[in-house]
Amino acid sequence: MSYNIAIDGPAGAGKSTIAKAVAKRMNYIYVDTGAMYRAMALFLLRNHVKPEEMEKINEQCQEADITIRYENGEQVVLLNGENVNKLIRTEEVSKMASISSANANVRKKLVSLQQALAKRENVVMDGRDIGTCVLPSAEIKIYLTASVEVRAKRRFGELTAKGEQCALAAIEADIRDRDRRDMTREISPLKQAEDAVLIDTSDMDIEEAVMTVIELCRQKGYER
Ligand code: C5P
Repeated sequence: MSYNIAIDGPAGAGKSTIAKAVAKRMNYIYVDTGAMYRAMALFLLRNHVKPEEMEKINEQCQEADITIRYENGEQVVLLNGENVNKLIRTEEVSKMASISSANANVRKKLVSLQQALAKRENVVMDGRDIGTCVLPSAEIKIYLTASVEVRAKRRFGELTAKGEQCALAAIEADIRDRDRRDMTREISPLKQAEDAVLIDTSDMDIEEAVMTVIELCRQKGYER
């Protein structure tokens, strides 16, 4: 049996930072499911599929072979054998991923990959539907959130630190858009699982959030 920790929540809540830190301390594998949806989005963009062409997304997604492997403890996403880690963090890919991830065929393909991984390994898996759909029987489920304003400010800080020009208002509008799409889609919408623990990181630092999860691991008897 493997130990699974499911972390869900909206974009910018701190999921990946916290999930990575928990994985490191527990000696589990961190699985970033958003990166898989991003790789699929990149594939569709490269094939000139437009976000509104749902039928095309249905067909084309079957041609994408998405797998992950680990190099020096980091997750590497392979799209038809190519390492696409450096290509999937653009705004264009973010937007496409948020739209194409609503497609049933896309989800079916990636969810079965995620489930197979969690069966084999102890994982901290983050995404939007991990506690509700991918790993419904995980004993530790976290719903990580923060206010839209705080999430937008964090993203703004990240982008400006990289030297990118951006406007806070535009980032906030984009986050609201992504939230709405993720929360209102028909298949696997983002929502807190009934048995998930809510952590709001608006006024919390990373260490506090990480320790909340580690304490849950201790209570549930999760082994390192
Ligand atoms: O988490 P990240 O922002 O990298 O995810 C990219 C997109 O993939 C999200 O906007 C979301 O729509 C989608 N996603 C999803 N289900 C997951 C993880 C991500 O639908 N489990």
